[in-house]
Amino acid sequence: MVDHLANTEINSQRIAAVEHCFGASGQPLALPGRVLLGEGILTKECRKKAKPRIFFLFNDILVYGSIVLSKRKYNGQRIIPLEEVTLEVLPETSETKNRWLIKTSKKSFAVSAASPTERREWIGHIEECVRRQLSATGGRPSAEHAAPWVPDKATDTCMRCVRTKFSALTRRHHCRKCGFVVCGDCSRHRFLMPRLSPKPLRVCGPCYRQLSGQMGPLKSFPLGLFLRLAVGGTAAYLNHALQ
Ligand SMILES: [Zn+2]
Ligand SMILES: [Zn+2]
Repeated sequence: MVDHLANTEINSQRIAAVEHCFGASGQPLALPGRVLLGEGILTKECRKKAKPRIFFLFNDILVYGSIVLSKRKYNGQRIIPLEEVTLEVLPETSETKNRWLIKTSKKSFAVSAASPTERREWIGHIEECVRRQLSATGGRPSAEHAAPWVPDKATDTCMRCVRTKFSALTRRHHCRKCGFVVCGDCSRHRFLMPRLSPKPLRVCGPCYRQLSGQMGPLKSFPLGLFLRLAVGGTAAYLNHALQ
């Protein structure tokens, strides 16, 4: 399919159409050998709430953006090299079905499709592209992934001290290492994580102590599990936040 479409007129036209929809807000996407395999709308779980995003699957990259005008205008383009991508299926929550995690070393986030079939197709196609990319470049699947951010609404209490209540005046922050929602006092430290940013980033106390070598590895908390609990609302102390 990929080899069959590469360097065809129809493929070039499709890629040009995507570039056109992003306009000046997007990067040039045409590249020799690059093939656009499919597109569709997925719901992306963002910090505040879940939002529809347009996704384009190429043989080597995944591109997504905000929808300004359906099939006409998109912005906020993000490009993820498929070599870095690992997927993980997430169980459904009371609000969202057909979810999975898209994980990379820089950023990880949850998306959901409209049906189980759509999810199966997206995951199947993405994984096939990742496999092909890795075998073409001799790369390995990436082992380290950025923690997905626990959504704001999943908790109204700091997930580290479990005391501070969030309000209009007491802001929520996110630890860039573990993705937890924490208060200002619990995230006073900054730590340089070159994989994520050239600047030191906000981290929570336990992550800071672990990163700076002041203590051994944190008891590994299965963050995927936490995300399920937090979003699913089954964690006892998070329940009230979801009402
Ligand atoms: Zn706190
Ligand atoms: Zn942390």
